[in-house]
Amino acid sequence: MNKPERRKPGAFKEITSLTNPIVKDLRGLTQRKNRQAQGLFLAEGLKLVASAVESGWEIETFVFGRQAKDHPLVGELAAKTKVNGGLVLEVSNQVLEKISRKDNPQMVIGVFRQMWAEPSSIKAKNRDLWVALEGVKDPGNLGTVIRTCDAAGAKGIVLIGETTDPFALEAVRATMGSVFALPIVKMSATDYLKFSMGWDGQVVGTHLSGETDYREQDYNKPTILLMGNEQSGLSDEMAASCTSLVKIPQAGNADSLNLAIATALMVFEVQRDVLAL
Ligand code: SAM
Repeated sequence: MNKPERRKPGAFKEITSLTNPIVKDLRGLTQRKNRQAQGLFLAEGLKLVASAVESGWEIETFVFGRQAKDHPLVGELAAKTKVNGGLVLEVSNQVLEKISRKDNPQMVIGVFRQMWAEPSSIKAKNRDLWVALEGVKDPGNLGTVIRTCDAAGAKGIVLIGETTDPFALEAVRATMGSVFALPIVKMSATDYLKFSMGWDGQVVGTHLSGETDYREQDYNKPTILLMGNEQSGLSDEMAASCTSLVKIPQAGNADSLNLAIATALMVFEVQRDVLAL
């Protein structure tokens, strides 16, 4: 039997006009209100988009620059998108710039459907680690935290209260693909406080006035690690809900560490035994 011929990217819809309504819609996804309304988000870069597909995410719209049309992986991703009923667009560099609001844009952009995990997926098992963030505001920080938690083997991320959007372009860029790997749960502060009361494990909060050195804490149980907001730290209510408050000792004049740096120190300490070679 003859093998079906693989469709070439050149066979897909071509867009060069900056005023094309599809371009306007895609560019709109750089704004939170449009992402929320449509439940979609953008991810840039061939490696990132390919790793998302490898992890089982489906591309809704696959956009590639003309210069990338002969790349075999571009052809493969375009064909997969078509098979799944998605839209494939071959565009000019100016169109890529317009969609991503960036000079020197990546040659590939994927549009994906947002996925949020349910609070019921947070299970107190073994010595599993979940990282909860109260009111994180900076998308770059959040992306870096997601990437770092993925690297340390955390089970997932909990976003509490009013936070920045993990599906913002800047956050997705900073995750370097980890946004496709880790479940993300969002909860109001009230729901989180209710949830943490029933959590059959410990809740370790990080606080500048924590009384325990973070290296002295016992992490040999299911742990929620609770991190505070960049400006104001943990609210009193959140701090009071923790089973312990730990501090990362500091020297010098800096009054605190950057949120992503503090999270990195914490998660690798919590996972020290799990990650031991
Ligand atoms: N002015 C804020 C405060 O009073 O907490 C600083 C917040 S800090 C930039 C952001 C978060 O990083 C904190 O809420 C905490 O979770 C964590 N953090 C930063 N430095 C820390 C340290 N030395 N010990 C424990 N947690 C720290």
